[in-house]
Amino acid sequence: MIPFLDLKTINAQYRDELAQACARVIDSGWYVQGTEVKEFEQEFAAYCGTKHCIGVANGLDALILTLRAWKELGKLKEGDEVIVPANTYIASILAITENRLVPVLVEPNMATYNICPINVEAAVTEKTRAILPVHLYGQMADMPAILDVAKRHNLLVLEDSAQAHGASINGIKAGNWGHASGFSFYPGKNLGALGDAGAVTTNDDELASTLRALSNYGSHKKYENLYQGVNSRLDEIQAAMLRVKLRYLDIETQHRREIATTYTMGIGNLSIMLPIRQDSVIQDLAHHAFHLYVIRTKEREALQKYLADEGIQTLIHYPVAPHKQCAYKLLNEKSFPITESLQHEVLSLPISGSQSIENTQSVIDALNRWCR
Ligand SMILES: *Cc1c(COP(=O)(O)O)cnc(C)c1O
Repeated sequence: MIPFLDLKTINAQYRDELAQACARVIDSGWYVQGTEVKEFEQEFAAYCGTKHCIGVANGLDALILTLRAWKELGKLKEGDEVIVPANTYIASILAITENRLVPVLVEPNMATYNICPINVEAAVTEKTRAILPVHLYGQMADMPAILDVAKRHNLLVLEDSAQAHGASINGIKAGNWGHASGFSFYPGKNLGALGDAGAVTTNDDELASTLRALSNYGSHKKYENLYQGVNSRLDEIQAAMLRVKLRYLDIETQHRREIATTYTMGIGNLSIMLPIRQDSVIQDLAHHAFHLYVIRTKEREALQKYLADEGIQTLIHYPVAPHKQCAYKLLNEKSFPITESLQHEVLSLPISGSQSIENTQSVIDALNRWCR
């Protein structure tokens, strides 16, 4: 049996260090807003190359609170339009609608699955105030082109980096391209806590202090409340876990890239389309974090069943596009043909920072034996 993702094995590699960090927090007697969070925020900001990192409770809150902070700062108001990929996990869009902003969905580039900058430009109206690009599957969106559109139209840029810890273009990491970036440390993400956790990175001092207040009851100072805030804080225990795992992130990412290269070199079945296109300019410049290795085939259900029979677990990211969800009834009738065709064809192969090359080879062999 080859599991899609074996979190137990991944975390077992660091068991002693995680247990020590856990004991350190237990013995400190201090469980929220303490030194572990402070240290992690500094370490993760340094890792991304940003001035600030603000820990929050999860990745969705990181996105929601950043948009909320821009509303508090007068940079966004209810009804403003935010351009977002149609082809994303629904959380990117929930963050927009939670703030009573209007999501304007834009089709991806077929080669990268990521939001297409030409379509972004075409979607700009006089109500557009922000772009929320997603680095889907660990591959950077075309940030140079997106920032160019943003600059010309004076738009805010919020990166959704939940799948892209450590990915970069031209040496600049995910989280350091936009005016701000949301990260998730959900256990299955490339940098995963042992529970829910998230963060915002930014170089903007005013945004950072507003976020700190908003995530702590709207309070910038004990018993004084500037905003009608929420409680969305990163716990000491999760920060301590993340400090251990951050030290191994680059090694794990390197391993993910090796698995991905092994898949790309090894899969020769012509009815399967691979994610890496050598003709993609962005691909050449970008360092993909390979959160997922996603293939495409017209016979997705048959292939998934065949692989399951071979003992290989796969997943679909994502089986229902956000605009087809009950949650967004008003978007159900809209047509996004590229997103919809991807939704019917994508299949995620097993990949992780600890998957063996032997297991990877077994997946390749099974794929190469498959005839539709
Ligand atoms: C996981 C994820 C989120 C949400 O993160 P949580 O920590 O689960 O709230 C947001 N956007 C994308 C693209 C994600 O993959």
